[in-house]
Amino acid sequence: MGFIDEINRRRTFGIVSHPDAGKTTLTEKLLLFGGAIQEAGAVKSNKIKKGATSDFMEIERQRGISVATSVLAFEYQGTKINILDTPGHKDFAEDTFRTLTAVDSVIVVIDVAKGVEEQTEKLVEVCRMRNIPMLVFINKLDREGKDAFELLDEVEQKLGLKVTPLSFPIGMGYDFKGIYNIWEKNINLFSGYSRKNIEETIEISDLSSSELDELIGATSADTLREELELVEGIYPKFDKDAYQAGTLQPVFFGSALNNFGVRELLDCFVKIAPTPRPKQSEERLIDPTEKNFTGFVFKIHANMDPKHRDRLAFIKIVSGEFKRNAPYLHVRHNKKLKFSSPNAFFAEKKEIVDISYPGDIVGLHDTGNFKIGDTLTEGESINFRGIPSFSPEHFRYINNADPMKSKQLFKGIDQLMDEGVAQLFTLEMNGRKVIGTVGALQYEVIQYRLEHEYGAKCTYENLNVHKACWVEAEDPKNEEFSEFKRVKAKFLAKDKQGQLVFLADSAFSLQMTQQKYPSVKLHFVSEFQ
Ligand code: GDP
Repeated sequence: MGFIDEINRRRTFGIVSHPDAGKTTLTEKLLLFGGAIQEAGAVKSNKIKKGATSDFMEIERQRGISVATSVLAFEYQGTKINILDTPGHKDFAEDTFRTLTAVDSVIVVIDVAKGVEEQTEKLVEVCRMRNIPMLVFINKLDREGKDAFELLDEVEQKLGLKVTPLSFPIGMGYDFKGIYNIWEKNINLFSGYSRKNIEETIEISDLSSSELDELIGATSADTLREELELVEGIYPKFDKDAYQAGTLQPVFFGSALNNFGVRELLDCFVKIAPTPRPKQSEERLIDPTEKNFTGFVFKIHANMDPKHRDRLAFIKIVSGEFKRNAPYLHVRHNKKLKFSSPNAFFAEKKEIVDISYPGDIVGLHDTGNFKIGDTLTEGESINFRGIPSFSPEHFRYINNADPMKSKQLFKGIDQLMDEGVAQLFTLEMNGRKVIGTVGALQYEVIQYRLEHEYGAKCTYENLNVHKACWVEAEDPKNEEFSEFKRVKAKFLAKDKQGQLVFLADSAFSLQMTQQKYPSVKLHFVSEFQ
């Protein structure tokens, strides 16, 4: 198979949902279809479970699972499918945002009873901003839920999407009879739990034929006819280009647990989902078909064994072929590196591979060279854009609790920040260090890992910060900027990249500052050029 064929057969995507909507279950069923796993229960949920175990144990358990499920790859009908795992827990939302920089499309899972939930809204907003093609799967049709039209409305309104159903449910809950596949023009009847079998589908060439009445009963048949007429009247015709441009989102219905509607989703997905997409770098747009290899780090995972300090850096291949033992340029360090054992991922296993293609993810063993966002190339100086940091929600001073171990503490903080566990800000005025996180859970993670992996102890101290804003001066030399820096000195810090950050202590002071210094732009995201 040639290089271009290898690219064209790859589909790299993420599944996003609010916790409990059915992401893990759907992932597992997709893997079953690919023959990558043999039984249900093989894919572990990466959810944070509160309960019997202490939080630390839970965090470690979750970390263990998260490395195993980071990338799940399998073959289906000649396509190579790479599913990138995205944590649903809100405290790990930033991990998910970063993973979304490495996907070429997304499947959004929605619970038919709960409809659009908070985490779904946030994640979809990020996908929308990046024009990532999205396909919606409405799950748990075996349960009572909202009316299909009502749900489609909700998806359009709350998620700001333009939808068109490609399948339609026949009843739901107790009355769930099956699904009419608008895309393939056939019916799949629901017969209860099916582990793996591909259900028989019945071709329906003419909806007005009495065959439909015989299959699902006259009343259901009439309702379905009316509903499909409505669908045709209300929703636009499916258009692959619009979907790939991120302006139209096809919707499927099903029940992941019952393995129902999943094959339809997958069959359509492999036909319409985008192949590896070009990616913008600061210098130019990089096309996957370019001969020279380029890729970027979107995730770093520390070894679970504290005795081995090595980490696994996850690289998304953007262009060219990635070859084992070939020298590649680490652009930020301007240094060539070779990788003797790059890992590729298959279902839940990882294996050393000689060659990988655009769309693929390789895991590289790293002793501290990489941080999130780093670019590797064959020599060209390219920097991929778009792994921004968002303003954290929580802020605390971090203090050294063991003066003999300050070196370990700083090294630990440094490496954990490179992994993207949290953000570090150093106050301009006194050099004190502030840790900013998305969720309170991260403080426990940091404290625990500093102690267990680096032998350092820390304590936290509360700090009242409303938002961190990255500062951009219209004219760094003007009087207004000097005054801003002088008056607000107490609230200024540098992030790890050395960018100036304003730590506003309240929404009010933020607003006042914006009014008073209009030429000083305050951004909630670290990348704004
Ligand atoms: P995640 O948090 O999004 O990964 O959700 P899970 O896949 O872990 O599913 C959450 C719960 O919903 C589990 O108890 C699943 O068994 C259940 N579930 C998933 N899909 C379905 C479905 O189609 N029907 C029903 N009734 N339950 C489902």
